[in-house]
Amino acid sequence: MSLLPISVAAAAAPTYLTSLQLPSSSQPTSASFSTCAPRPYITIRLHRSARVYSSQEVAQVASDLFDQAQEKILSKLKENSELRQIIAKKLVGIIEELEHSSKGAAELQDGAVLPPSERIKQGFLQFKINNFLKKPDLWSKLAEGQSPKFMVIACSDSRVCPTEVLGFQPGEAFVVRNVANLVPTWEKSGYPGTSAALEYAVLYLKVSQVENILVIGHSRCGGIKALMSQQDGAAPWSNFIESWIEIGQPARAHVKAANASADLDQLCSHCEKESVNLSLTNLLTFPWVKEAVSSQKLALHGGYFNFVEGSFEYWTLDAKTSDVAKF
Ligand SMILES: [Zn+2]
Repeated sequence: MSLLPISVAAAAAPTYLTSLQLPSSSQPTSASFSTCAPRPYITIRLHRSARVYSSQEVAQVASDLFDQAQEKILSKLKENSELRQIIAKKLVGIIEELEHSSKGAAELQDGAVLPPSERIKQGFLQFKINNFLKKPDLWSKLAEGQSPKFMVIACSDSRVCPTEVLGFQPGEAFVVRNVANLVPTWEKSGYPGTSAALEYAVLYLKVSQVENILVIGHSRCGGIKALMSQQDGAAPWSNFIESWIEIGQPARAHVKAANASADLDQLCSHCEKESVNLSLTNLLTFPWVKEAVSSQKLALHGGYFNFVEGSFEYWTLDAKTSDVAKF
């Protein structure tokens, strides 16, 4: 393959800003989401014309050039001992870097405890090598915007990451996580983090249509255990948790009434699922959720991840039989 003389230069990294700008009028709350996703591209200039090549094309050109470059480098090295020493030093550096990187990957896989900065660095490098650089088309597309078909509401528990458990790919699921995967009822007071995320997903990602909201409960949920362990009249023990899990009171009452002789562990297991139903019901108190569900543009799903058994249960809320006053 004959090649035109080319120069390959990394283009200045563009800044991609995906921003949510809520209309200034008539919105009770304002929010701002921004993500910066640098897109890898290289500009190859062919004489006076410039064209942006994909990473695959660049890889092909690089591959074609490699043999030619290798021959030239070897012949130069034979002629020039000083150059040989410079190249040798650079090679040592490259080898050390590769060894360091593979050692970091092995440590991550072994679950070794690394210093925080090293853990973050190695985690990101592994993501970049195994995901970002391998999927240039996906990340280029995502840089233009997101169009997730799922919104997922899951617990903050470190063992139940929905992306990990259900294998969602980047851009596939809009996720909000909180203590005990609870959805409050429609209200505008306080700090409605979950409600704001819900509003963004349902109203402002509308172009792409978030078609499904999935609420996922899980086994051994600390938030649900706190809810089920509450004693009437007990002194307050937290700054924020108690008032948050208060959302789950209807589920707690329902489970206690239906399982009078059950012990705490059994009650918790029941409530871990019942709280999902409560959250699904509470979703319908948001008028735009209810409207979207009624017009069959949006489906509400419940899920339960049991990491003790390694199982996942799933169910869909039927709009015709769902009533906000279910509990
Ligand atoms: Zn939990």
